[in-house]
Amino acid sequence: MIVMKFGGTSVEDATAIRRVIDIVRRERYRRPLVVVSACAGVTNSLIKIAHAVRDGDQRLSLEVLETLRSRHCQTASDLLAGSGRDRVVNLLEGMFQEVRNLVRGVQLLGELTNRSLDTFSSYGERLSSLIIHAAMVEQNLPSQLVDAREVMVTDRSYSAAQPIIGKIAERATKVFAPVINAEIIPVTQGFIGAVDDGSTTTIGRGGSDLSAAIFGSVLGAEEIQIWTDVDGMMSADPHIIPEAKLINIMSFDEASELAYFGAKVLHPRTILPAIEKKIPVRVLNSRRPKLNGTLIVHTLAESASPNLKGEVIKSIAFKKGITVINISSSRMLMAHGFLAKLFSIFADHEKSVDVVATSEVSVSLTIDNEENLSDIIRDMEKIGETRVQQGKAIVCVVGEGMKHTPGIGARIFSALGKAHVNIEMVSEGASEINLTLVIDEQVVHNAVKALHDEFFNSNQTHQD
Ligand code: ADP
Ligand code: ASP
Ligand code: MG
Repeated sequence: MIVMKFGGTSVEDATAIRRVIDIVRRERYRRPLVVVSACAGVTNSLIKIAHAVRDGDQRLSLEVLETLRSRHCQTASDLLAGSGRDRVVNLLEGMFQEVRNLVRGVQLLGELTNRSLDTFSSYGERLSSLIIHAAMVEQNLPSQLVDAREVMVTDRSYSAAQPIIGKIAERATKVFAPVINAEIIPVTQGFIGAVDDGSTTTIGRGGSDLSAAIFGSVLGAEEIQIWTDVDGMMSADPHIIPEAKLINIMSFDEASELAYFGAKVLHPRTILPAIEKKIPVRVLNSRRPKLNGTLIVHTLAESASPNLKGEVIKSIAFKKGITVINISSSRMLMAHGFLAKLFSIFADHEKSVDVVATSEVSVSLTIDNEENLSDIIRDMEKIGETRVQQGKAIVCVVGEGMKHTPGIGARIFSALGKAHVNIEMVSEGASEINLTLVIDEQVVHNAVKALHDEFFNSNQTHQD
């Protein structure tokens, strides 16, 4: 079997959903499980509704709700006919009534918990999957709508709930497998899950990729397909660098570094479940389904494609909204246990650190959100002088070939020097397949462009 996950833009309207159905039909013989996201922008709108009512702006929340309602009913009407259409529109109306009830609940209570926020945002995937499933049935693709909450068991960390793999494996065998074995296509939601007691959770923004990967891994899929709005993993974000090139094949390690450092085409944790079972992941464009996309494999040696082994740099990713924290303490830094103490502060506050650079008298590290920052700083000040710089960005240059090629660092620094980009931190991962830089957020697009020109548009003989 295979898993086919369709992202928001791939299901944004009736035209997009028709394309999805054609793509699924083409792959039908491979026994797909279909995982869908909310229609493009809908999760943001649901969060907006929740925040508006929390902030006392009920008018705005109902306005956004009405826009969503008419958009979904329109999509269903465009796709479906006759009694099928009436049935689905009724179900959609019922769901919007539930959202209205939630709005009322938040208004009465005067507070919005992460738990209720998850219930709000879960509607995006529940609405889209209802429409897509009905359209498949109407177009003679035997399919069954399965509520992902019956399978995706998570802990209670609402908004960033952790999937519990053992339980998901059990449920998937019970719920998905019989449907797939009966040659019926299960259509389910990405992103949403439930605690054992049934309360709805979500697994973090962009989480549908992760849902797909987990379902694929517990069901032993032969491939996990991530269908999106670009041709695959590219040498840079094609919306920033239009001349970005498609990467035909890459390793799990390369893909994880890229995803982790900002290439949102793949959720950073998607790769892990796939690695564990060595399941290839393919990133594909639902608007150009004939292209082969990017194949992500366990190790490049396994691949039959010889040309890409020689490539030094595969891609350049970036992530904005980074905060750098420097701590210096001439007295304590060299003392044993200092780094342990420093990192235990981050562990205590459940904050993950992205990039670390150390010198004899100072340590710099980066975080990508400022939740609990003041508490962290207060604790850090007890062990050293602490300075915070906001508005930074991470740029990450990734490629397996970097391991064996001298002079890459020099080319990176000189390209950035010529573009007048000041580098504030540098770090090379132990895997030696990435070089990560921290720079000012305002110059990040220039920096990515300069690096892309250096490695992809200049004379490629440099790299050989
Ligand atoms: P989906 O809704 O299908 O999950 P996302 O918006 O989450 O899609 O991810 C696709 C987007 O990722 C692309 O539109 C592109 O702007 C962005 N992106 C960032 N870096 C890259 C990259 N290296 N290659 C391809 N896309 C990238
Ligand atoms: N709909 C969710 C989001 O926008 C999950 C996803 O699309 O992957 O974050
Ligand atoms: Mg996504």
